[in-house]
Amino acid sequence: MIYSEVAAKYAQLEQISGRNEMTVVLASLLTSTPKQELAPLVYMTQGKLRPDYEGVELGLAEKLALRALSASAGVPPDKAYSVYVKHGDLGTAAEDLLKTKGQGTLFSEGLTLKRVYDTLLKIARQSGAGSVDAKLRELSSLLNDASPLEAKFIMRTVTGELRLGVADYTVLDAAATAFLGGKEARADIERAYNVHPDLGYIVESVAAKGLKGIEQIAVGVGIPIRPMLAERLSSAAEIVKKMGEKAVTAEYKLDGERLQIHKEGDDVKLFSRRLEVITSHYPDAADLVKERVSAKRAILEAEVVAINEDTGEYLPFQELMHRRRKYGVDQAISDYPVALNFFDILLAGSADLTGKPYTVRRKKLEQTVERTDRTRLVPAVTTESPGEIEDFMEEAIENGCEGLVVKDPASTYRAGAREFAWIKLKREYRSELTDTIDLAIIGAFHGRGRRAGNYGTYLLATYDGKRSVFTSVAKVGTGFSDEDLEKIPRVLKPFESSVKPPGVESKMVPDVWFRPKVVIEIIAAELTLSPIHTAGMGRIRAGAGISLRFPKFTGKVRDDKSAEDSTSVDELVAMYNRQTKKIGAQA
Ligand code: ATP
Repeated sequence: MIYSEVAAKYAQLEQISGRNEMTVVLASLLTSTPKQELAPLVYMTQGKLRPDYEGVELGLAEKLALRALSASAGVPPDKAYSVYVKHGDLGTAAEDLLKTKGQGTLFSEGLTLKRVYDTLLKIARQSGAGSVDAKLRELSSLLNDASPLEAKFIMRTVTGELRLGVADYTVLDAAATAFLGGKEARADIERAYNVHPDLGYIVESVAAKGLKGIEQIAVGVGIPIRPMLAERLSSAAEIVKKMGEKAVTAEYKLDGERLQIHKEGDDVKLFSRRLEVITSHYPDAADLVKERVSAKRAILEAEVVAINEDTGEYLPFQELMHRRRKYGVDQAISDYPVALNFFDILLAGSADLTGKPYTVRRKKLEQTVERTDRTRLVPAVTTESPGEIEDFMEEAIENGCEGLVVKDPASTYRAGAREFAWIKLKREYRSELTDTIDLAIIGAFHGRGRRAGNYGTYLLATYDGKRSVFTSVAKVGTGFSDEDLEKIPRVLKPFESSVKPPGVESKMVPDVWFRPKVVIEIIAAELTLSPIHTAGMGRIRAGAGISLRFPKFTGKVRDDKSAEDSTSVDELVAMYNRQTKKIGAQA
């Protein structure tokens, strides 16, 4: 497959926003791609090189990308920089500069999809001493052989900014259209994707073996499953009603980090909520699993929580963040001990349990996990009485939890779904008007007074998944400790951008832009409408977006969420509508 064909389709996709039209274009691209190149093509179309859980990160720094570009275009670095700032995008800058240079395809060696993919993979995998020069060489050599249009997409891909707006589900639609002659099999493909979230592999399987290929895709040790998520309601009575006025299982909502635990004999792998491998943060937890989980092969879910070793009490989430470090892990293990709190089991031996009701899974969990101070089952009660649930909620909060997760005992494990089979109930829903929400930092404003020389406030965004864009929602300046004020700029530094990053929609212009990567948790008094912010623009009222009144940082940097996992525009709209209903009811 030649890369110019891919680039031409990308250019076409860029012009389209309708999902149906996008599916058609993508399906034709899939059909014209040789089977062995389908997986690379699919990853690249999503601006990636491998499935997320393998942790192969693109995202070359702006400076380095500019150096390669200025070398290939034969212009001084400051010229490349000014063209970049003029266009606001490295891809368009590359296209412009190579056009000016007169670089065509005539004299260059035609790029293949394989060469582009292999080179990008090499760049992503290089690290350590000398890697900067090596990356530079690889990228320059690609750009030297690229047409202006090809260079545009190569540049965007390598900096992690290829935002074609092709959602995972659009790729699944396209695969169904291309290889199964329609969307009838779409639900089967989606099921396969949710239990084996490797889009390249899924498309390849569909292409090679049709429906049979994907029916064979099952839950497996070593491949993380997309987690089941919870909806939210604001009272126990509403929850019981929503679940059909029957007995429900209320569990502590522990304030730790979600772990998906994969065990194969003595080999234990821990995946985070965003499906990254994080075994190295919790080697002690992996040991606990080895010792206390009786099944040889298993996939379990647990919340890992920091504890006070002397009393066994739960400690807040912030304590766990000390475990996210590369060096001094041993010291951190003894300074910040943790307990595993199991709440689900998805595979035991050879039995896939995801299709079994929750009661059956919980029973299996009880049989599989040996209970100790460090390995616990999440406390649960089963009742149909809202009063009893409220009492349990008080108890949970007293014990340092955020609230409850109430589960429908009959529900199967719905990988990747946020539905009412699990409903969270938090204290915030009652004392304040909104839940905590997770927002991506897209900019910062310089501080004054005590914060002179540092950032004073941050500009935050929600993710609009339908359009693949980040929309501004609020500025936040309160709730930051001195430690946060020192740490957050450091975390943000690699994502600094001289221009408004592609895929960001904001009328407000901060002093410094950041690519949306870092997610923080915010609590606010209520949701409001604002003409300045672009989140959900026009969804509630024409000309107004959704914003927050009195936003405050809770102290949590959500390392366990990617920017795309931040609270979505749809969720904000639903929260706004719920809030209006509640105010109406109180009046
Ligand atoms: P939040 O910000 O509230 O954690 P989220 O988007 O991370 O939300 P949700 O699906 O809304 O995820 O809430 C479920 C989360 O609560 C899980 O990801 C898990 O980390 C945590 N949790 C704590 N206790 C439980 C429990 N008993 N059962 C399921 N999840 C639990």
